[in-house]
Amino acid sequence: MATNRTFTMIKPDAVENGHIGAILAKINTAGFKIVAMKLTQLSKRDAEIFYGEHSERPFFGELVEFMTRGPIVSAILEKENAVEDFRTLIGATNPAEAAEGTIRKMYATSIGENAVHGSDSDANAAKEGAFHFSGRETF
Ligand code: ATP
Ligand code: MG
Repeated sequence: MATNRTFTMIKPDAVENGHIGAILAKINTAGFKIVAMKLTQLSKRDAEIFYGEHSERPFFGELVEFMTRGPIVSAILEKENAVEDFRTLIGATNPAEAAEGTIRKMYATSIGENAVHGSDSDANAAKEGAFHFSGRETF
């Protein structure tokens, strides 16, 4: 069954650059309800597990270094068609290719430091949400 939830992180670059509030406002305006949220920091092991599917890619070391260098905001979001609609809201991985008005177009600086994460499938949304939040932190 398709879920109506997705998982997101506001990445260290966007937190450092003071964009938490603006990004959350865009998420709310787009109709997503926040059902779990926290300010936290990934350990090296957390980031290696979370982005494990990319472990053979040449940018993996850089990705882990980036994702662990400061706090992130992690959240579970609810909306009909959440996974696909959130990917549309954030835009392409590379901000240079992201559509006008998307979060990455507005707040990302490069393909590596791209401001936000969005789950790419319902199965990954459930897995990633459970990696970050316990049942009692999810509403
Ligand atoms: P995310 O999973 O963070 O939402 P995505 O699904 O758009 O991003 P992925 O292909 O899953 O893109 O890549 C995961 C992350 O790895 C990217 O968001 C980016 O931070 C980093 N990354 C991807 N490609 C590159 C690259 N060519 N050079 C540097 N970093 C990259
Ligand atoms: Mg991805």
